Amino acid sequence: MTPRLVVLSAPSGGGKTTIAKAVRDRFSDEFGFSVSATTRKPRAGEREGIDYYFWSPDQFLKGVAEGRFLEHAEYAGELYGTLRADVERILKSGRHVLLDIEVDGAAQVRLLEPGAVTIFILPSDPRVLIQRLVQRGSETLQEIRRRLDRAIYELGHATSFNRWIRNDDLEEAIRAVVKAVEESPDKLVRDRHDFAWLKGYLNSLETEKQRLYDELHQQKG
Ligand code: 5GP
Repeated sequence: MTPRLVVLSAPSGGGKTTIAKAVRDRFSDEFGFSVSATTRKPRAGEREGIDYYFWSPDQFLKGVAEGRFLEHAEYAGELYGTLRADVERILKSGRHVLLDIEVDGAAQVRLLEPGAVTIFILPSDPRVLIQRLVQRGSETLQEIRRRLDRAIYELGHATSFNRWIRNDDLEEAIRAVVKAVEESPDKLVRDRHDFAWLKGYLNSLETEKQRLYDELHQQKG
């Protein structure tokens, strides 16, 4: 099978990094993972060249000028990008390339590589996503609202992806990713039911955003 680019996107808290790592670890003969460059600082336990290449903004912009990125985008005030060399190395080894990237980068990959498999991952129940967003660290309500805004923005782009995978069960989600890559791209379609479901999902997030907004105002008042 011709090796392909496989884009995994999800709102923050959607669980895509866990899925990407599991696919890479279990199917290392078939899949390689592209390590991105970023200007954000490493989190505890993250390693240079394994989780990311941690670059200064100057290094990153030089990389952009030199055409080293397949795609790049800004996320939460930091720059992130997929290095062409990393992608080419994996493709040359005959393996599919997993890209764990946000939706703006995914749009660039789609334009460059129409044969890419683009997968959007999210928990079936919006309450699970909200819970994950709320539970991440001890952030303020404003920070949670910012994440919700971003989740709503990312969900608004879900319709451009070949396949949506509901991440309720890790094993099923892993199988679904591998299956989506094995299928031909023209089989990757959704039905009307999926679109209605997405609309309901977005409505739930908007309602939650409003609730947090009211709570914020009550705290201030
Ligand atoms: P985090 O800082 O939590 O590791 O990642 C923040 C967001 O940036 C996630 O949605 C992640 O998928 C995305 N991201 C990571 N690497 C890249 C990249 O190379 N390009 C783009 N466009 N997004 C990336």
